[in-house]
Amino acid sequence: MSTPEETFQVLDRIPGIKTLRFEPLARHTRFGIGGPAEVFAEADRAVAFVRALELARSSGWPHVVIGGGTNLIISDEGFPGLVLRFTGKRLEADGETVTAQAGAMLQDLVDFSIGRGLRGLETLAGIPGWVGGAVYGNAGAYGHSISERVSRARIHDGAAVRDIDNAACNFRYRESVFKRSKAWIILEVTLDLTPAPREELRAAAERIVTTRNEKFPPEMKCAGSIFKNLLLAELPGAVAAQVPQEVVREGKIPAAWFLEQSGAKGLARGGVHVASYHANLVYNDGSGTARELRELIADLKARVRARFGLELEEEVQYVGFSST
Ligand SMILES: Cc1cc2nc3c(=O)[nH]c(=O)nc-3n(C[C@H](O)[C@H](O)[C@H](O)COP(=O)(O)OP(=O)(O)OC[C@H]3O[C@@H](n4cnc5c(N)ncnc54)[C@H](O)[C@@H]3O)c2cc1C
Repeated sequence: MSTPEETFQVLDRIPGIKTLRFEPLARHTRFGIGGPAEVFAEADRAVAFVRALELARSSGWPHVVIGGGTNLIISDEGFPGLVLRFTGKRLEADGETVTAQAGAMLQDLVDFSIGRGLRGLETLAGIPGWVGGAVYGNAGAYGHSISERVSRARIHDGAAVRDIDNAACNFRYRESVFKRSKAWIILEVTLDLTPAPREELRAAAERIVTTRNEKFPPEMKCAGSIFKNLLLAELPGAVAAQVPQEVVREGKIPAAWFLEQSGAKGLARGGVHVASYHANLVYNDGSGTARELRELIADLKARVRARFGLELEEEVQYVGFSST
């Protein structure tokens, strides 16, 4: 294994790569939490990014690819290796097909598609983060997920760049093959959309963004929902029987309902708080730490376990902890 200094020097010589030593990762997460990356590197050209990725692989040095940092909890100690970002933002349309590089903002992709009178992504309006992160977590809202429109993803699979189809992405609710095969990195995605009146799509997106901004004020240091919702079909009968019919939406029960019944609203640990109006929303008041976040999340899980015998699963992703 190469030393960090050797890896840094080789990386720094790749044309098109920007590298930083000990970059505070709090600058790159919406929570505003996270210690330094030993090396932080980004590239907006796929060729340079892939070279950096392959160097990281061959050096045997720990590395992780992040996007916009809107769904991340990064340890207070930071990351003892290389944190990589692909910042390529190209968006292209060919008839009803749109191709987006992984570093494009999801909102820019939504606006681009709406601008071309293409339906399929408008319910994702207002979800922060980048396209790669959205595909990784199969982002979605209002009954639709990005997976419904993905026809192809260009990935680096740990050995080479190749294209995979929707089936190979193995999408499920907030799940994809990328969560389980961490060596698979998304470079670009192609989406098949449907023609529709622009004004109708724009109005739908604007309504959604207005509602979202009330729930998640743009300056709030958070990750959206901390936990995944629960699929009604997968709940033990005795638990399902306790859930009022009116809280079930598209076959799912919001994790917020279980959390609320378990007394989560308004709980706090140091500088991190559960919102008083939404039990699945945890935010940093500016003084919070990753340790406090982890403790509060563990408390929330323990409460739901004790009250319902259910294990909540985080939607948020961890970086820099011993298991990651
Ligand atoms: C206010 C707010 C509201 C939100 N609302 C929603 C919502 O309604 N629905 C929803 O689904 N999500 C929601 N989220 C969560 C988040 O915005 C999405 O999960 C988003 O898609 C994450 O993208 P990102 O670029 O920020 O990824 P990051 O947070 O940077 O990374 C998330 C994960 O993706 C991996 N990753 C990132 N890029 C790549 C890549 N190119 N290849 C492989 N792996 C990669 C990272 O390693 C990490 O594990 C919300 C978040 C916030 C802050």
